[in-house]
Amino acid sequence: MIDFTIPPALDDLRTCVANFVREDILPAEKRMPEGRLDEHVLATLRQRARDLALWTPHLPPEWGGIGVGPLGMALISQELGVSAIAPLVLNCSAPDEGNMHLLEKAATHEQKQRYLRPLAAAEVRSCFAMTEQASGADAAGLKTQAVREGDEWVLTGEKWFITGANGAAFAIVVAVSNPNVPPQQGMTLFLVDADTPGWEVVREIPVMGTHGPGGHCEVRLNSVRVPHSQILGQEGQGFALAQLRLGPARLAHCMRWIGVAQRSLDIATARARTRETFGAPLAERQAVQWMLADSAMDLYASRLMVLHSAWLIEHEKPYRQEVAMAKVYVAEALGRIVDRALQICGSLGYSGDLPIERFYRDARAARIYDGPSEVHRMVIARNLLKASALEGDTKSACGGLA
Ligand SMILES: Cc1cc2nc3c(=O)[nH]c(=O)nc-3n(C[C@H](O)[C@H](O)[C@H](O)COP(=O)(O)OP(=O)(O)OC[C@H]3O[C@@H](n4cnc5c(N)ncnc54)[C@H](O)[C@@H]3O)c2cc1C
Repeated sequence: MIDFTIPPALDDLRTCVANFVREDILPAEKRMPEGRLDEHVLATLRQRARDLALWTPHLPPEWGGIGVGPLGMALISQELGVSAIAPLVLNCSAPDEGNMHLLEKAATHEQKQRYLRPLAAAEVRSCFAMTEQASGADAAGLKTQAVREGDEWVLTGEKWFITGANGAAFAIVVAVSNPNVPPQQGMTLFLVDADTPGWEVVREIPVMGTHGPGGHCEVRLNSVRVPHSQILGQEGQGFALAQLRLGPARLAHCMRWIGVAQRSLDIATARARTRETFGAPLAERQAVQWMLADSAMDLYASRLMVLHSAWLIEHEKPYRQEVAMAKVYVAEALGRIVDRALQICGSLGYSGDLPIERFYRDARAARIYDGPSEVHRMVIARNLLKASALEGDTKSACGGLA
């Protein structure tokens, strides 16, 4: 049975989040200049999120959350995406949300108490350190080394573009612990406290778009010593666990991008209704109507792909092909929708008086992080070819809906 009805409890939750964003978060955001978070305002909003029972929605109640699954998160993240700070207010922003999920799945009891507990309470921030200057899209080329010495591991290397590293209390570091096996089996995840000697945040890298607390950082690991008990998961499981984290994390980005795209289209449509040129509103021009219609179609397709992928994750079905397709499609649709919105709003859209110019700058990175579009396309095509060879057609690799 195919049923597109949103369950009433989730619909109520979505409405509650949408109202909170519109009435409290967006007005507060206006008072904060780009990138400058006011800790007092954030703390007040977070208390309100707790009062509304919206705090850390993705974690189960034992960790102080409300236990919303991937489908519910897809619905509320679309509402949160309209604001740069809303995910922070609810404590479900990247990279902490993905790290919380990973810790919940892979950490030992002691590690959960030490790292997940304070993260779930937003007492600390964290980061995920995988990418290196010499190894980005192809993680198999990672150079950061972990060498065992007795009961300790010594980590040496350089990381690049580590979101939130400046001020993070700890990092989940991906390092090569066994160079003698294929890379997929030779990597391990380590929990590294930021006050460990040798952990060095070199700088926040200047970027085109905006960023949250802690920037996007270059980090050096200068013979960082961590006990064996700081391994997250099992030795050699690093690549698999990183993929486990990245699947749902990619989808979480898609959910927020839909919110950004929807807000851009709302602004552009309202502007088209009221702005007159040559004696008629823009809304009456076919050239403008087509831009609006194309954006509506982009958004509709994006929503369906994200909701279907979230449904697959929620029901523990294979999801990687669908998430890869959604990641590429929604990232690129976001760029198209924001670009059209800016065009329709003209000089006003290009100005800092509307949020669209910021969305435009931020949207550009969506096609790069969590895997560039080209690499996802390579994987998607590989699965298509495999399905064709094994099954005689490609339906199962195109979303498997029919
Ligand atoms: C805003 C932002 C935040 C980030 N946050 C984090 C973080 O918190 N932690 C972390 O570990 N990393 C993070 N990253 C890094 C991100 O994961 C990498 O940028 C990404 O994996 C791509 O690596 P790269 O930038 O080195 O691109 P490269 O590997 O240099 O690739 C460059 C380009 O080459 C093309 N390309 C690459 N491979 C292929 C191929 N096989 N076929 C065709 N074309 C190809 C693509 O167009 C790609 O964009 C972040 C990046 C950004 C921009």
